[in-house]
Amino acid sequence: MPDDHASSCEPSPIAAGEREIAARRVRVLLPLPLPETLDYLAPEGSGPPEPGSFVRVPLGQRSVAGVAWDGAGDDLPEERLKPIIETLATPRLQPELRRFVERVAAYTMAPPGTVLRMTMSVPEALQPPRPKRLCAASPTGLAALTGATTQTRLTPARRRVIEILSNSPPLPASELVRLAGCGSGVLRDLIAAGLVEERFAPAEPPEIPPPNWRLSGPALSLDQSTAAQRLVDGVDAGVFGVTVLDGVTGSGKTETYFAALAAALAAGRQVLVMLPEIALGAQWLERFRARFGALPAQWHSDMSAAERRDTWRAIAAGRARVVVGARSALFLPFPELGLIIADEEHDPSYKQEDGVIYHARDMAVLRASLADIPIILVSATPSLETLVNVARGRYRRVALPRRHAAAELPAVRLVDLRRERIERGHFLSPPLVAELTATFEAGEQALLFLNRRGYAPLTLCRACGHRFQCPSCTAWLVEHRFTGRLLCHHCGHAEPVPACCPECLAAGALVPCGPGVERLLEEVTERFPAARAALMVSDLLSGPRAAAELAQAMTERRYDLLIGTQIVAKGHHFPMLTLVGVVDADLGLAGGDLRAAERTYQLLHQVGGRAGRAEHKGRVLIQTWMPDQPVMKALAAGDRDRFLEAEAAARRHAGLPPFGRLAALIVSAGDPETCEFTARALSRAAPQLPGVTVLGPAPAPLAVLRGRHRRRFLVKTGRDVRLQPILRDWLSRVRTTGSARIQVDIDPYSFL
Ligand code: ADP
Ligand code: ZN
Repeated sequence: MPDDHASSCEPSPIAAGEREIAARRVRVLLPLPLPETLDYLAPEGSGPPEPGSFVRVPLGQRSVAGVAWDGAGDDLPEERLKPIIETLATPRLQPELRRFVERVAAYTMAPPGTVLRMTMSVPEALQPPRPKRLCAASPTGLAALTGATTQTRLTPARRRVIEILSNSPPLPASELVRLAGCGSGVLRDLIAAGLVEERFAPAEPPEIPPPNWRLSGPALSLDQSTAAQRLVDGVDAGVFGVTVLDGVTGSGKTETYFAALAAALAAGRQVLVMLPEIALGAQWLERFRARFGALPAQWHSDMSAAERRDTWRAIAAGRARVVVGARSALFLPFPELGLIIADEEHDPSYKQEDGVIYHARDMAVLRASLADIPIILVSATPSLETLVNVARGRYRRVALPRRHAAAELPAVRLVDLRRERIERGHFLSPPLVAELTATFEAGEQALLFLNRRGYAPLTLCRACGHRFQCPSCTAWLVEHRFTGRLLCHHCGHAEPVPACCPECLAAGALVPCGPGVERLLEEVTERFPAARAALMVSDLLSGPRAAAELAQAMTERRYDLLIGTQIVAKGHHFPMLTLVGVVDADLGLAGGDLRAAERTYQLLHQVGGRAGRAEHKGRVLIQTWMPDQPVMKALAAGDRDRFLEAEAAARRHAGLPPFGRLAALIVSAGDPETCEFTARALSRAAPQLPGVTVLGPAPAPLAVLRGRHRRRFLVKTGRDVRLQPILRDWLSRVRTTGSARIQVDIDPYSFL
């Protein structure tokens, strides 16, 4: 071994000098889109920071926080390197997380710095907490109070301030001023006169009550406790392993995985629970509190800057023991992570579609493997990817085949729209109307599901046929009647609904085409004037609190009917809800998405799963023009496994995921010529390798998005081919110019 040999030699003076340089040289990864780490020198007068330390370094005219990285630097001469400004006191980034950053970057083909940026998304959190400024009475102040010195006359306000301080520990200025009922000027003068002193105390981190794993949850059923025991065994083993908790809706999956969570806490480890769209998890949080006596730390986009900062620090310091978050929580700096749970693992919102394009469920499995800890994937409708991994013996499956207690799965019935007579501009078929009537008469609740926000998906002029299109996207504008606007659902462009057609100037000629939830509400109100109906749609709810309040009102039966988009599908538990009507089941089947059928099954099964979760039996009516489609038949028969087998066979035959690999390249540019030019250049340089198929360039379905013109390539390979090196090589042979950009999407989920 050359290393042994070298160490047995006396170092020559030159070698010693080199070693010193190497030791002074530090690789630093900055949270910026750079291809690699940069080299710096150890801070003046101290040794090099340990790998994982947060450091502040000069970069051009700025100073930037980054992380001291592992490994030797490259060979830039030392004279050209600048020293690190300081090593920050923030806890170091664990080796496991550093490897994770590298592996995510390599997999997604994003620069490592942009992945690092996700782990240090709160720059303020790296600074030590600011010391608290407190006020205390000075000896002269106290003397003035007792009249021991006669030089100082105290006004009543000044006297009150010193009196308060004479009987209390040092107080923050704001509190002191409030207690004394005086202005801040009074305090300022007292400090200037030396009667009150300022003191600085280290800031106390906000108190986080730890979840109590010793509390006992509800008694588990036999099924549940068998499943829970297998999850707990996985946690106790304390090594990497993927367990799929596959349980029908209402089977008590949450209670079951809480047992595993408790076991990880008991073992002194931190736990990450990932939920899709955490902002909607109010009912989940309540259940967690009921089970563990305290709320978990939360991580989602809807937090204030101060909340983010405090939470990041609490996680890094190990004070937050359980974190529940959306996909970005995966990049948080847990020092003692012992378990990851990904709830609703099949949910499409786990795929991050901009910036670093990654799938949070897949990356969670990667993180668990690097940290050598167990991970639990939870769903009533696991993804085909996950089930195929079960079949291959890579993941373990734990099943909950029955609903909890007396609840039964709802009966599902298809309504064949080809045979129903529905009045123009109306969308509820006679069988659905009859079921709604019966539900309201029985004093029960109903849910109508339509995955379309707004009033109508298309507005056109009856006189000239003009259609309203977004000026910067290939998309129709959607009328939102409550806000009186036409809206682009892709870029957010909004304009008022005009009084007359902008094309032919005909007045009152605009007609809505097709249904949106707002239009459905109109129809329901017209047909059931006595029913209390509410819309549950993200754009009409001001935030998670409003969503939680609406869910609460539904639980308390202040509404008879909820009309909603996919946000109603997830997680909600309304005991009196017995009827679910799917207004347009075919919506998700259009377009070229390879997972369209699978997703339709998952979504509609999930929505249907809201019906009959307590004592009263549930019914689901699915309106479709395609009742013979396998996915519709499977929904009606409740035969998930047969449907998935057929789906898997079709994908295997076509070599599509999970039986083959896919990557998408999206070329975009500000003008069509540059876009076309770049796409052609890519096309000429396309890899010509056996087993690698390149499709495209094709105009993307959204041929223009936010004013950028787009073309797509799709790369298809076998499962055993590593796509990234092929893509890297391909991209290295094409130079982009001007506004052109090439985005790489490994394992694409969106084909727009
Ligand atoms: P899932 O997540 O599988 O759809 P949940 O965990 O939401 O199911 O459980 C459905 C309902 O049944 C919830 O209201 C839950 O509190 C209740 N439940 C589940 N298991 C138990 C149990 N062992 N004891 C009491 N209630 C339970
Ligand atoms: Zn648009």
